[in-house]
Amino acid sequence: MSEAMLTNQSEHQSEELNFTAFTDLCRFCSLKNGPKLHLFDKEAEQRQIIFKIRSLLPVVITKEDFLPKKICELCVNRLELLFEWRANCVQTDVSYHPCG
Ligand SMILES: [Zn+2]
Repeated sequence: MSEAMLTNQSEHQSEELNFTAFTDLCRFCSLKNGPKLHLFDKEAEQRQIIFKIRSLLPVVITKEDFLPKKICELCVNRLELLFEWRANCVQTDVSYHPCG
């Protein structure tokens, strides 16, 4: 009897993961919680989020795909740190090759 109850419970939980909940996940870490920035809204554009993602990650994101379009605050921070680090590394490398 307790086995049947467990089965019912897990079925109920999978029903709760509907499409709305899916599109609300962070595209990069799949976390559901925390404030999220939409990848294609004005703020994201100003912060060059898509540009940074395309420079750093082998992930293809288009407005037309059916995957989550949000990024959580933690991932935005990581992205910006990583982008800055990458830019510094490139700059250092350039300084080691003054003659091109
Ligand atoms: Zn995230």
